[in-house]
Amino acid sequence: MALIVQKYGGSSVADADRIKAVRDRIKRTVDAGNQVVVIVSAMGKTTDGLIALAQSVSTNHTPTLIEIAAKEREMDLLLATGEQVTIALLSMALQEVGQPAIAMNGSQVRVVTEPNHTRARILYVEPDQIKAALALGKVVVIAGFQGVAIDPATGLPSTEITTLGRGGSDTSAVAIAAAIEADICEIYTDVPGILTTDPRIVPKAQMLTEITCDEMLELASLGAKVLHPRSVEIARNFGVKMCVRSSWLDDAGTVITSPRIGTGNLKSLEVNRFVETVSIDYDQVKIALLQIPDRPGIASQLFKSLAAQGINVDLIIQAVQETEGVNDIAFTIPQNQLLLAEVVTRGLEIGASLVTVDSNVAKISIIGVGMIGRPGVAAQMFTSLAEAGINIQMISTSEIKISCVIAATDGESAIAAIQTAFNVPVRSHQACEITSENSSDISPVRGVALDRNRARIAVQQVPDRPGMAAKILEQLVEQNISLDMIVQSQSDRDVNEIAFTVAIADLAKAETALKEYAKVLGYGEVSCDGDISKVSIVGANMIHQSGIAARMFSALADANINIEMIATSEIKVSCVVRDHQAEQALKVIHQEFNLSGDHAIEVPSALKK
Ligand code: ASP
Ligand code: MG
Repeated sequence: MALIVQKYGGSSVADADRIKAVRDRIKRTVDAGNQVVVIVSAMGKTTDGLIALAQSVSTNHTPTLIEIAAKEREMDLLLATGEQVTIALLSMALQEVGQPAIAMNGSQVRVVTEPNHTRARILYVEPDQIKAALALGKVVVIAGFQGVAIDPATGLPSTEITTLGRGGSDTSAVAIAAAIEADICEIYTDVPGILTTDPRIVPKAQMLTEITCDEMLELASLGAKVLHPRSVEIARNFGVKMCVRSSWLDDAGTVITSPRIGTGNLKSLEVNRFVETVSIDYDQVKIALLQIPDRPGIASQLFKSLAAQGINVDLIIQAVQETEGVNDIAFTIPQNQLLLAEVVTRGLEIGASLVTVDSNVAKISIIGVGMIGRPGVAAQMFTSLAEAGINIQMISTSEIKISCVIAATDGESAIAAIQTAFNVPVRSHQACEITSENSSDISPVRGVALDRNRARIAVQQVPDRPGMAAKILEQLVEQNISLDMIVQSQSDRDVNEIAFTVAIADLAKAETALKEYAKVLGYGEVSCDGDISKVSIVGANMIHQSGIAARMFSALADANINIEMIATSEIKVSCVVRDHQAEQALKVIHQEFNLSGDHAIEVPSALKK
């Protein structure tokens, strides 16, 4: 007997027939000897409909902050009705066929959240009522997406209804699964599982039988179409096993695995620490190529030559350059490969004006799953390094990791500064790898994601001294702008370029904020580019093979696609390319790693945007 949480999304419960199909699946699961807790979304597009209704009664006067807060409270009352319809109907349908069931909304169960309307994070879920109902042989049907706010004055649940933000019922399901220690959390949706890439661009994208939580999070723009990222964060923090399956099929879908790392605290499910560990690697040498021509094929030639010698390149950074037509590329490698790498690099005729080598460097990284969408985390890291008087030479970020290259002599004080800032242990990150499949068959690249919704900002002539990256980021944090792919280039002058990508929607706001502070902080031009896209490869088993990044760069070069920015982490390589070449870039990379199957996987047109 297993304890199974099943979550059914809106399309899976869109009408009475779908609800009956879901009922039958639940009944079969119970009849097979399992205990079942079900989380549901609102039927079909109900939530959209409710939002439209709210808009139809509002005028277009500009509301005050107090008015906005008041409206958000009522919005939650309104939106929470959607899921309540589904739980009642599904519970009735189960009872009709003789299956005892009970429906409960978020406040009845006590899915207790922060007191933040329309975007509440879950604090904890009381397991007792759910367990009591299960013990009576009932199926417990719970409304997703909603909870009840904690009363900050008493620390007890209030009577205020909250919602978690659009798509939040996945997060409800995993939080409940963590609280009741379920054996598995099955997410039923209208896609058959997680695919290697977006099937609308690559029709023969294949389905993955297994993926790790880290990979899922790093594939953000791809994964988020199927799963609410916050749900994956909880699964990873609490070691909840998940799977994504179609509610129309009996196929197994994709299993999402997580290591049991045990940093989760059931009393603060979602407001867990954002940073889990800090690690430092002294076995690093930095090589920088300055002023190389900015045209397709350069990165490919460089990293192909290094890979051909079996050199394990760790961090790769290519930032934007102020001078048109040239780039700087910097990378790090292990100490013992320095001689070889230097010979290879200096022997290349790619037109670099200067090759510099620095073996007195270390890489300090923070790893955490709650960093996505919390721009303050990177800023805090840079600030604490600055306050310790440490200069950051290179920065590279991914969804779950931020790495800085610093002088090796600063290593100890850097670790101390970060430990105090985040109150985290020093530990090397144990990435969860794919193990259950036959490992020799596993492609080092598991998925390829395209994010067309990004814009690039480059801040030029940033004085090369401690604290600059932190100050620049602080301007953006204040505006609540999330940025990713922060790269700081290595330079031969006493100024650096710092470039990053933001959501297109935040571009104007970010530009204004940064231009305002140019004089005060002493940096130069702020250049913005909305015509770019970010394409990434992700794979947990990438670490064991050299030359993966080189293959990605070559595939782009062969298609004559110029790479404008590069950032890497252990399990991810991201490149910024021109937006008009973005789909082509995705196709050639997917092809390069042979990720296509021999037939297209049926994906209902309802594939979520
Ligand atoms: N019904 C909510 C929404 O549409 C929650 C969910 O479906 O996950 O956003
Ligand atoms: Mg959903």
